[in-house]
Amino acid sequence: MNDFVFHMRMPRVVFGAGALQHVRREVEAIGAERALVLSTPGQAALAQRVVELLGEHAAGVFSGAAMHVPVETVSAAEDRVQSVDANCLIAIGGGSTTGLAKALALDSGIPVIAIPTTYAGSEMTTMYGLTEGGAKRTGRDASVLPRCVIYDPELSLGLPFPTTVVSAINAIAHAAEGLYAPDGNPVVDLYAQEGMRRSAAALPRLQANPRDIEARGDALVGAWMCGVVMGSVTVGLHHKLCHTLGGSFGLPHAELHTVVLPHALAYNAPAVPEAMRKIAAALLAPSAPGGVFDLAARHGAATSLRAIGMREADLDRAAELAMQGQYPNPRPLERGPLRELLQRAWAGVRPD
Ligand code: NAD
Repeated sequence: MNDFVFHMRMPRVVFGAGALQHVRREVEAIGAERALVLSTPGQAALAQRVVELLGEHAAGVFSGAAMHVPVETVSAAEDRVQSVDANCLIAIGGGSTTGLAKALALDSGIPVIAIPTTYAGSEMTTMYGLTEGGAKRTGRDASVLPRCVIYDPELSLGLPFPTTVVSAINAIAHAAEGLYAPDGNPVVDLYAQEGMRRSAAALPRLQANPRDIEARGDALVGAWMCGVVMGSVTVGLHHKLCHTLGGSFGLPHAELHTVVLPHALAYNAPAVPEAMRKIAAALLAPSAPGGVFDLAARHGAATSLRAIGMREADLDRAAELAMQGQYPNPRPLERGPLRELLQRAWAGVRPD
């Protein structure tokens, strides 16, 4: 076993069908009086519901959250925070909305309550990102970790099934890379295996009935566990590839994770057979790379970069970008095999 240092940072978690009703209590528990509710434009009605639950603690809604946290959005939200004199931020939505709350907390130290409605897992990490002039800057800072997370499975009942699939596989990707991270440990391993198992097992149940509240709960607990893993370790090739491809070629986040994960695992498999065994076991599949690919394909997700909008002509540049900068990965990065990985991911070839 490796030596390790582990400092688990976990927000207070309030879980349950209908748990949204506790939002006012949670604002009071952190000693705040005026909460600004953040959402995307598409979830503005849900944000309004939070305002009603907050009563006199509501300071308003900012419903301009957008993918990749553009600095222009952050600065517009900052103006709103100041004009309404908010001392608490409530992010209700997916990773993009949580990301906006984190960017605001980074500068101001204002506490965040996150109410996730997808399985991105951002609410469990100290990682933040901001996009300026097309370039995404990321970092880690303890001040952006939410103080409280309300997981209410009722809020994801309406998450469209195609989004449900890619979001759950996005969660699985966080956990899979935790199993071979240089700073992993046995506790993180447990979270990773159980998080993957729950996320994968929820999908056939949600395919049969997207409004299955028990399965929604399992998927949310899976996302929580997988998020804890990503918040605790240094991720490798898979996340680096997704960061590069998403940032440089504008590909959609969770869809991209779903396409790339089988291929990143196939690349690393020879170096970390024990991690692959654990991933395969969690997915009830004969192999980790093939198991992730089949999970996506069986539930109707795209399995090629071509299908999610990448041009074949950009693969050489993508390989070059992925070789830039040093980051830990169990198998050393070599340009030739990496370029082949991208070609197979582009064409959607199933790895074994
Ligand atoms: P998202 O937040 O962009 O949501 C996608 C769309 O789905 C949005 O329009 C949103 O309003 C809508 N939506 C969300 N929940 C819904 C629901 N229950 N019903 C109907 N519509 C719903 O997508 P995401 O995949 O959750 O998050 C992706 C972003 O999160 C990326 O920018 C990524 O970089 C970031 N992220 C960050 C971390 C981290 O630790 N910092 C971790 C994971 C993801």
